[in-house]
Amino acid sequence: MARIKLLLPALALLLSGCSRIWVPEKIENRIGEAVTRSVLAQMPAHADPAWQQYLEDMGRKIAAVSERPAYHYRYYIVESSTVNAFAVPDGSIFVTTGLLKMIGQDQLALAGVLAHETGHIARRHGAETLQSELGFGLLSTIIFGFGNSAAKQAGNMTSQIMGLGYGREMELEADVCAVRYLARLGYPPDSSLKFLRSILPLEKDQHDITIEKYLRSHPPTTERIQYVEAYIRRYLVKP
Ligand SMILES: [Zn+2]
Repeated sequence: MARIKLLLPALALLLSGCSRIWVPEKIENRIGEAVTRSVLAQMPAHADPAWQQYLEDMGRKIAAVSERPAYHYRYYIVESSTVNAFAVPDGSIFVTTGLLKMIGQDQLALAGVLAHETGHIARRHGAETLQSELGFGLLSTIIFGFGNSAAKQAGNMTSQIMGLGYGREMELEADVCAVRYLARLGYPPDSSLKFLRSILPLEKDQHDITIEKYLRSHPPTTERIQYVEAYIRRYLVKP
């Protein structure tokens, strides 16, 4: 008993000193792979070698300066007229043809989108969501193997990632990750704001349903812009 009493504070200290995420990467990956399969069943991959290459080149440059450079990032263009982009915990980053159409050849806007999605994967937001929402259910998956319950969890996670996003705190964290990654690549500090500023007028247009899903899964664009601007002023712009 005395030993347990001694152990508990030590364990708490150990946990607080470590990453807040305890989900093994293997589980994050397997559930993520199931989510990716489910996304591709709903939205067909779009074959465009030139865009694909462009996306991969830029995506890999960004991933290389993230906190998780060695993870296996994959980039998918999927057919959908809606403007959307999202990241899956197995390292898959999806952008819709609707988003590419809206962005056009704007390199900075696309870099901002990719850097935000890379931030979700590099900061392991998928794993964090799994552990906070599933708790002991996830723990049993880890202990007893990847059975039906894990497949069900993957299904739930697909709709969450595609429709609800990762929640306010993680979305804003991904936004500041984007600022850091793009600054490390030598882009001007406010580059990641390019995309956010371009969707601001669409947010005000209540009738524009093409971007509805993206807006619903992220905090209000004005709040994101202000948060990023404050971060840049505080950490990146020298007085
Ligand atoms: Zn996001």
